[in-house]
Amino acid sequence: MHYLTGCAAELKIARKKQYQWSPEFPMLPLFEAFPRLEQELTCAALANLPTQISPMTALEKELGVSGLYIKRDDLSGNPYGGNKVRKLDFLLGRAMREGRRAVMTFGAAGSNHALATAIYARQLGLISINMLMPQTNAHSVRRNLLMSLRTGAELHYFTENRRLQWGVIQQMARHRLRDGVFPMQIPPGGSSPLGAVGFVNAAFELRKQVERGLLPEPHYIYAASGTMGTAIGLALGCAAAGLRSKIMAVCVTSPPHTSPEKGQQLFRATNDFLQRLDSSFPKELLSPERFELVYGFLGEKYGVYTEEAVAAVRQIKAAENIKLEGTYTGKAFAALLEAARSGTLKGKTTLFWNTYNGWDFSPEIQGLNYSALPKALHKYFEEEVQPLDRQP
Ligand SMILES: *Cc1c(COP(=O)(O)O)cnc(C)c1O
Repeated sequence: MHYLTGCAAELKIARKKQYQWSPEFPMLPLFEAFPRLEQELTCAALANLPTQISPMTALEKELGVSGLYIKRDDLSGNPYGGNKVRKLDFLLGRAMREGRRAVMTFGAAGSNHALATAIYARQLGLISINMLMPQTNAHSVRRNLLMSLRTGAELHYFTENRRLQWGVIQQMARHRLRDGVFPMQIPPGGSSPLGAVGFVNAAFELRKQVERGLLPEPHYIYAASGTMGTAIGLALGCAAAGLRSKIMAVCVTSPPHTSPEKGQQLFRATNDFLQRLDSSFPKELLSPERFELVYGFLGEKYGVYTEEAVAAVRQIKAAENIKLEGTYTGKAFAALLEAARSGTLKGKTTLFWNTYNGWDFSPEIQGLNYSALPKALHKYFEEEVQPLDRQP
């Protein structure tokens, strides 16, 4: 199961860039706690860590609750932040270690994950092959497609699963013939056990910030759940780090992407994976005290905005000048707002984990024309965006 067969030169590239933490944070907190893992895992050091913790005092006043904080993963990477960077650190680290030339990943047309992969693969000199599927139209879909084009990623679009499967075979074969090695496949959202390790580390990072007095130990951590890597990584990490925080994973997709079974399976697989690499990593259980799937905020389906999400996006923007969106973080934040209103958060410490990229890359795509995209994707520019995304 090890992947030490990579080319030594690539390994050096991946290792050369070390984490530049402050002197008190000399290495990844997960590696500090389990030094063997540093030998076994390659981290591409793409993320700017630790990300800030900020109190949301204006919002506390508005809602009449205390103890509201935000984890600024929106600034986790430059030029592109959000939750995918933490996963890509380990995923692309492995691709480099294995001497791959390309990675292949999957997502909806406007996938933040596919875009993040395109941007950071390119930074490491890898080709990103993005296999895209239909999504409800939004301005963010257009922006992400243009930015992906800008990075030079290969974009392929499929409207049916069967065609996608055939496309995977074709592209894998084509790249194998050209490069001599197969592309490394990264699952949707980067939510393999290896990707989830990024959020196991994030929980250890949070523990350090609690120890430093930046916030009390949170009772609740709210995060959007799309493919579950973020929420499950945090749940496993909190358990292993001895944090008693309960992860409130707000469903923004339907099964099989988010479900109790998927959560259990990813939790177990990630835990087993880390234990295999370092036998001192503890065996944990995903219990209801640690983890809850929050239903009721998805709306019609993935990628379709809801009135509550749009209102939540407006409220946090006005109160805290934080920019969220309607597919993931607006729905997750709407769940937090609802819990605040119903009194659940009274006397508790609540952390909102901002998983959305916070950098504005519109200057980079200024003047780019969609005509260079595969023809099947033009419709996202020629057809209207969904009604709730139409106001400026
Ligand atoms: C991908 C994504 C999520 C979901 O994270 P998962 O680990 O897939 O559950 C949440 N928020 C944003 C902004 C995302 O792009």
